[in-house]
Amino acid sequence: MIIQLEKNITDIQRATLEAKLNAIQYKTAEVSTQYSEYIVGVGKKEFDIRSIGTMPGIRDIHRVSDAYKLVSKKWRVEDTIIELGDGLKIGGGHFEIMAGPCSIESEEQIETTIEHLVKNGVRIMRGGVYKPRSSPYSFRGLGIDGLKLWHQKSREAGIKIITEVMMTDQIDDMLEYVDIFQVGARNSQNFNLLDALGKIDRPVMLKRGISGTIDELLQSAEYIFSNGNERILLCERGIRTYEKAYRNCMDINAIAMLKEKTHLPVIADPSHGIGVRRFVESVALAGVMVGADGVIFEAHQCPEKAFSDGQQTLNFDEADALFTKLRKTFAFKQNL
Ligand code: PEP
Ligand code: MN
Repeated sequence: MIIQLEKNITDIQRATLEAKLNAIQYKTAEVSTQYSEYIVGVGKKEFDIRSIGTMPGIRDIHRVSDAYKLVSKKWRVEDTIIELGDGLKIGGGHFEIMAGPCSIESEEQIETTIEHLVKNGVRIMRGGVYKPRSSPYSFRGLGIDGLKLWHQKSREAGIKIITEVMMTDQIDDMLEYVDIFQVGARNSQNFNLLDALGKIDRPVMLKRGISGTIDELLQSAEYIFSNGNERILLCERGIRTYEKAYRNCMDINAIAMLKEKTHLPVIADPSHGIGVRRFVESVALAGVMVGADGVIFEAHQCPEKAFSDGQQTLNFDEADALFTKLRKTFAFKQNL
């Protein structure tokens, strides 16, 4: 059960509500976000929710039977729109593309990529400065200095930054330079990191774990929301199955299912989703057709020389073609 409180609820009204919930043996958690205050109640006893809904100081009340509550569409039926500033929005009919290299590598690469994005009207650049690599001997990113340089160049060009944060300790240093924090697949259930990202007012794109279920992804999102941050995007990036013919199995079904289960925007990542350059385009378009609110993909001026994930990275000509096809496909889908 979720109870949304009125902004001006008095201490007495709050205490009366708590007493009522205690009387029916509901466990409660108070959630205070950048937008509102809620009480999440978990319990088994049947009762008439109108007896609480009509109390003074209560704005709204709903029963939510899912394990996740605040991110559930049973609670909020309208799609959440994430505002990124400068008129940029994702979700609820607003579609955005995020593109850029797997890793931020050099000043020249940052400049060339920004120029390419600006030319194509793409306003969000992706890139990792802290890279989770399977081998400790692989390139692990330029760190905070790379991020500062990237930020300076991006601001000059009006480009927003999405980049991965791997540890709670990095959040404070990164905050000033990041528009969307990405939580990578390997950290999808790092609950301490999710708690910490719930305490800041900055959008978070949470990726599905390498073998995470849809339910686990939504419960991870619930960690962020229940700690106070409602600005969450979910990302399907493929899961590990027994199939060896491609890197991951892009779970297109999950996008459709997530759109039904949650009000949060869903982003498709076809690059990691299939991991094979020549199929990235069709998988991306499929993601849009099943309802993705945005697509994030890897692009590099010379994928063969990329420090990471070159095999799944598009060159700029391929990226140009995909930008156009993504926009056309989204418009087509909207008009179906
Ligand atoms: C990435 O976006 O480059 C990345 C490492 O993604 P994932 O966490 O999905 O593997
Ligand atoms: Mn990558």
